[in-house]
Amino acid sequence: ALQVCLPLNALGFVYREARDAWVNAERLFALLRERPDVAEQAGLPRLRAGRGEVVFEQVSFGYEEARPVLRGVSFRIPPGHTVAVVGRSGSGKSTLARLLLRLYPPAQGRILIDGQDIATLSPSSVRAAIGVVPQDTALFNDSIGYNVAYGRLGCRPDEIESACRAAHVHELIMALPEQYETQVGERGVKISGGEKQRIAIARAVLKDPAILIFDEATSALDSDSEHAIQQELDRLSENRTTLIIAHRLSTIVGADEILVMDRGRIVERGSHAQLLSLKGLYARLWLLQQRLDEQTMLQRQTL
Ligand code: ATP
Repeated sequence: ALQVCLPLNALGFVYREARDAWVNAERLFALLRERPDVAEQAGLPRLRAGRGEVVFEQVSFGYEEARPVLRGVSFRIPPGHTVAVVGRSGSGKSTLARLLLRLYPPAQGRILIDGQDIATLSPSSVRAAIGVVPQDTALFNDSIGYNVAYGRLGCRPDEIESACRAAHVHELIMALPEQYETQVGERGVKISGGEKQRIAIARAVLKDPAILIFDEATSALDSDSEHAIQQELDRLSENRTTLIIAHRLSTIVGADEILVMDRGRIVERGSHAQLLSLKGLYARLWLLQQRLDEQTMLQRQTL
């Protein structure tokens, strides 16, 4: 059976370890050090970030040598455009994002940002150019203001506030007992899934990156806040190069290009309308999604 709605492992190294989404800063940095490839190598040139063109050139990769996860993947996201990746669970969608973040090097092929092969560049400079809105946002045991500022440490309070206004989380924060100073995390105020996504959006607004990766949440949110968050994400991705790891096909209908992955290869590509008329894997996933949506609606009505 096709599985389009299984939860995606959270995007990154950190988020995977922090499944409950609460981590301490020390723990985060310990995790970063554990990954050999994440370590900063002295002397590597920094990315000269431009308008954010992303190119994958015949990229192959496997976490273990014997088991390829990506096989000869090529695509280009022109500056400011949006590409969405869909496919069954395990087809390699999140792996594309991890490679773009330079968390792992490709076994073959090249990944270019603004014409520069990222394998030759300092990892931190690559990550500085990319904002990530993960499906599970890790928050620190610290103030909510610090958690937003984490998008760009050292920014001014008024910048934090305007990012929170843009992400529509400012009102919520002002209603907390100590506003931006309110402690969140294990011993602090609990933050809902939708609010965490808004905090991730506020971080990305602050960071103002040329490139945005959006790892879509599978379900977690009710449909009203889902709709609102979708609008905020649309605004955030305007004029930014955006890669969406999609789980619900309905949200990517407007993408400039949709890549359909199957067992590590791109098997179909095109606009939503082009892909439907192919009557292939995408068309089948689309039908399945609609059936699932109908079922969910029926279930909601009978509850
Ligand atoms: P999903 O929608 O379920 O998240 P996906 O298409 O994003 O799937 P990936 O997360 O890219 O798939 O994983 C592709 C394959 O690589 C899967 O078979 C997965 O089990 C494997 N994989 C992912 N991360 C690792 C890892 N850190 N070590 C070893 N194998 C991994």
